[in-house]
Amino acid sequence: MERLQKILAQAGIASRRKCEEIIAAGRVTVNDEIVTELGTKVDPTTDEITVDGKPIRKEENVYLLFHKPKGVISSVKDPEGRKVVTDFLKDVKQRVFPVGRLDYDTEGLLLLTNDGEFANLLTHPKHEIPKTYFATVKGVPHGDLLEKLRNGVKLDDGITAPAEVEYHDVDPEKNISVISVTIHEGRNRQVRRMFEAIHTPVEKLRRVQFGFLTLHGVSRGKFRHLSKEEVKELK
Ligand code: URA
Repeated sequence: MERLQKILAQAGIASRRKCEEIIAAGRVTVNDEIVTELGTKVDPTTDEITVDGKPIRKEENVYLLFHKPKGVISSVKDPEGRKVVTDFLKDVKQRVFPVGRLDYDTEGLLLLTNDGEFANLLTHPKHEIPKTYFATVKGVPHGDLLEKLRNGVKLDDGITAPAEVEYHDVDPEKNISVISVTIHEGRNRQVRRMFEAIHTPVEKLRRVQFGFLTLHGVSRGKFRHLSKEEVKELK
C-alpha cells in the first residue's frame, strides 16, 4: 500500500505537491469513491484510481528471482543502513518486496514481487512449497542425526514436519559436509534451528531451490524476471 499522492506522481500525473492539490480538489476517485484525504493508502496494482474520470496507468506486476548474497537484509529498508535486497534492483521501477525472507547470513534464491496476493499465497503454510537448502556443517553428521531431521525435531515453536535430508557432498580433507535439506514449512531461521537441535551448527546456508525454481543461470547479486508460465505454475 502506498500514499495516493505518491502513486499519482509516479503515474506521471503531476508533481507530488500538485497531486496533493488535485486530490484535495476532489478530482480523484479510488474504486469509484471520491477521495480528498491526503495520505490515503492505496494498492496501485489492484485499486481502480481515476483523475478527472480517467483511469491512471496501473503499475504492472513483476516477479523476480534474485540470487541474494550473504550479508544482505531481506527487506526494502534497514534502519541501521545495512545493504538491502532492493539495492541490487536499481533498474526495477516497481516497488517490489521479498516473498518470505532469508537470514542476513543466508544466500540463495529469493523471490521478489509487487503482487501482494501472490506473495501471500506462496508464503501461506497451506501452500507448502518445498524449499531446498544446502547446509554446510563441520565434520560428517551421523546418519542417525539426519534421520532425526527427516522425521522432525522439537523446536521452540513445535516439532518440524517431515523433511528430505541427504548428504550432498562430503569433503574429508576440509572436514566439512554439505547436507541438502528440503522443507515444506517456512518458520523463522528454521534450517539453522533444526541443525542446532541436533547439536550441529550450520556454518553456511544457501537456498538452492524454491518449488521448481532453481538458481540456474543467475549469479550472486543478480536477478531475472520469471516468465508468465513460471508465475502461473507457482499459483
Ligand atoms: N532457514 C534458515 O535457518 N535461514 C534461512 O534464511 C532460511 C531458512
